[in-house]
Amino acid sequence: CQVQKLKGVVEDCCCDYETVDAINNELLHPVLQQLVKKPFFRYFKAKLWCDCPFWPDDGMCHMRDCSVCECPDSEFPEMFKGLPKQLSFEDPKCQEGKPEAAVDRTLDRKVFHGWSEVDNPWTYDDETDNGQMTYVNLLLNPERYTGYTGTSAQRIWKAIYEENCFKDGQNDSCTERRVFYKLISGLHASISTHIAVEYLLDEQSNHWGPNIPLFYERVLKFPERVQNLYFTYLFILRAVTKAADFLSQADYNTGNDIEDNETLSLILKILRSKTLQEACPMPFDEAQMWRGADGIQLKTQIQQHFRKISALMDCVGCEKCRLWGKLQILGLGTALKILFSVDVSDSHTNPLDLQHNEVIALINLLSRLSESLQYIHKMSPLVDVL
Ligand code: FAD
Repeated sequence: CQVQKLKGVVEDCCCDYETVDAINNELLHPVLQQLVKKPFFRYFKAKLWCDCPFWPDDGMCHMRDCSVCECPDSEFPEMFKGLPKQLSFEDPKCQEGKPEAAVDRTLDRKVFHGWSEVDNPWTYDDETDNGQMTYVNLLLNPERYTGYTGTSAQRIWKAIYEENCFKDGQNDSCTERRVFYKLISGLHASISTHIAVEYLLDEQSNHWGPNIPLFYERVLKFPERVQNLYFTYLFILRAVTKAADFLSQADYNTGNDIEDNETLSLILKILRSKTLQEACPMPFDEAQMWRGADGIQLKTQIQQHFRKISALMDCVGCEKCRLWGKLQILGLGTALKILFSVDVSDSHTNPLDLQHNEVIALINLLSRLSESLQYIHKMSPLVDVL
């Protein structure tokens, strides 16, 4: 087993791999690690019911014994009520019953207040506060191995790649389609990285740790997956820097002045970093997109695909995976909105307006990706000795 060292400029981006590693190690990773622990960024709201609009026939999300979804009886579609309980805890399809897949809901404090409820054209979820929302402390629910696997998980990735991405994604001659594919593949590589690095090595003793062979098999063996991870990281970083005016003036108040002031300082540390501005001033150049004769049509098409991917998150049959899937897809959708749906230079006619939850998702996604890059850096030498 050997891990190929990536060199040169990240494809379709503007910075080279060495520079990305340097800014991530020296600036972004340490700052983001602190930022996501702050009260403003550690609570996320999501509708965690698994009311999948696709594949209603298999009842996967609706089996009571299999699910920790707290759906009241009235929420069960009539057609599922008479279903025999053919799934049990031991059934490999039935992942929700595993303790490591359940979401900790001990947080019951509604820290969301005073933010706008503007829609995101790229996502399917409605972020409006209502009784269906669960408020989750992300620190109590780390993204890691949950045991969710098999046909349910594979079916979702298959639907994402085959129905919603484009056939020859990595090598598509159309920049927009290639970019879209890479964003999804990069996110997938990051999810696989977190699964492999935080793995339940021994169920009996509850021993967690890195599973290096799995990390190699799912991520490191495929240089293009690692490249796509760098790409997605730079894309999200560009969205964050483009939204600098909005983010530096946003209201991070959670009622804890000391913590909230630190939150703003950490945000400004990223947005005003000279190192970042000099080393990688333009992580991704969004001006290269939608320029062809069919640009508007292509954008509408890709937006519809992304909305479907966002809707697919309701079909993820493991609650904790659904939580992080929703958060990260919302983070991507927020970046797409910043880069392609508003003109930040024209603050009068089309001002940038983000929801509380979108800002949380965007920064947490960047933090997840940044952590994945760190793991790639740290773990690759270990693979050589496998
Ligand atoms: P999968 O990761 O399921 O991949 C399916 C196929 O996609 C592969 O066979 C390969 O052909 C292709 N592929 C894989 N990686 C890439 C890539 N980077 N780019 C392009 N193509 C690729 N499990 C957990 O334990 N914890 C979680 O938090 C978690 N979150 C999830 C979130 C979502 C939204 C989904 C859909 C699944 C999640 N899962 C999670 C399940 C996990 O992603 C895998 O599906 C599962 O571990 C089975 O892995 P696998 O080896 O079958 O390959």
